[in-house]
Amino acid sequence: MKHFPIFLAVEGRRIVLAGGCDAALAKLRLLLKTEARLTVIAADAAPEIHGWAATGKLTLIQRAMEPGDTLCASLFYAAHEDAVEDARTAAIAHRDGALVNIVDNLGDSQFITPAIVDRDPVTIAIGTEGAAPVLARAIKKDLEERLPASLGTLARIGKSFRHMAETLPFGAARRDFWSDYYFNAGPRAITQGEDAVRDALDTLLHDHLNADAKPGHVEFVGAGPGDPDLLTLKARKALDKADVVIYDRLVTPEILELARREAVMIDAGKTGFGPAMAQDDINALIVQHALQGLYVVRLKAGDPTVFGRLDEEVAAVEAAGLAFSIVPGITAASAAVATINQSLTQRGRNSAVRFITGHDTKGYADHDWKTLAEAGQVAAIYMGKKSARFIQGRLLMHGADPATPVTIIENVSRADQRIIATTLGELEPTISNANLTGPAITFLGLAPRGALAAATNLTQKAL
Ligand code: SAH
Repeated sequence: MKHFPIFLAVEGRRIVLAGGCDAALAKLRLLLKTEARLTVIAADAAPEIHGWAATGKLTLIQRAMEPGDTLCASLFYAAHEDAVEDARTAAIAHRDGALVNIVDNLGDSQFITPAIVDRDPVTIAIGTEGAAPVLARAIKKDLEERLPASLGTLARIGKSFRHMAETLPFGAARRDFWSDYYFNAGPRAITQGEDAVRDALDTLLHDHLNADAKPGHVEFVGAGPGDPDLLTLKARKALDKADVVIYDRLVTPEILELARREAVMIDAGKTGFGPAMAQDDINALIVQHALQGLYVVRLKAGDPTVFGRLDEEVAAVEAAGLAFSIVPGITAASAAVATINQSLTQRGRNSAVRFITGHDTKGYADHDWKTLAEAGQVAAIYMGKKSARFIQGRLLMHGADPATPVTIIENVSRADQRIIATTLGELEPTISNANLTGPAITFLGLAPRGALAAATNLTQKAL
């Protein structure tokens, strides 16, 4: 983003425009919508400009621009349709301390004026950084058609009612009130005039204040492995609605970015000094927010039902008498096999796949090593970095072939994803030497498809 969109407070501030022909007129029509004090400097101004000056809409100075003309101006437009005069006047304005825009000269402008859809006080600004004005115009046309002309009136009346609406509790209750106003009661009432809209707001507030308080709701949502494109539509919708998002350490910033702007974001992955937040504290946090009637999204990496301590959180929510639902996500194993072009099961190779964890709350996790050590077994090992030597030792001790393929995939689906193909015999020191810093999943019994094909070719050639 080379240009950062902001809305500038211009009420009572000076905006100066130099130039008097068509380019100047186009800009002035836009600027006249504002509450700024407009000054036009033009030796030869179009009749419309004289007309606006005569009715007090702007001040007209009929001469070429001079130093000091733009003192105290917040914005300056050079609109002469003459590059030399534009550059001269822009230099003056620049020295006077105004922000400068030269019409049709993006490179020398400090700011640009977007295409605007005006439903004051709702204003939509569309910018393409000069790349595609045609596209900006098409978007503007589309929005103009889609947004009812009454939107501005509804928003203006709504704004004056905001303090009244604050008698409703913050969060879902207040949001429901406003969406009822903008999408039902407001558009219905406006056909009868503005007073009817005010009456409708009073009635609506009364109804909402007397409605039974909505109980909170907890949504346990899978965030997938990190790529926002791997979120489910349900997860997107939940993030859109959230009052509060309580997220894990492994959830990526790109996904957090999708949460509703006003949502309160709580990092439950770590405290200020690094160690993980205790599970009981996380449970309490979820319950405490939902009891306030809020819509709480508990966002967990991958699929919340896989090594996510989900049941402990569900138990706490149930014990508090709160409603909840679970939105599954793509677990690391599913996303990871896709990146090595393999499937988790394969006819004739493995009719089962195990998801195992390298360690549990008590330390290194024990498994049925004897069956895992058999040829053709496939396992996805979560949290298997520190426990790699332990797992390797146990499997070899139970007779596993040291040549069994093992693939480690770090940061699955993210820009810094790494794939390390090795064997069980080499798992350590390979994994330690790789200096993995991100989350990693280890596959026992799977090699990347390419590597496998290359190995088969070599064997065939040797034969
Ligand atoms: N519920 C999660 C797993 C949580 S346990 C899921 O379904 O994916 C945490 C472990 O998941 C990590 O130690 C790592 O083994 C694995 N993991 C999670 N996200 C990962 C990612 N983007 N890349 C690789 N492994 C990941």
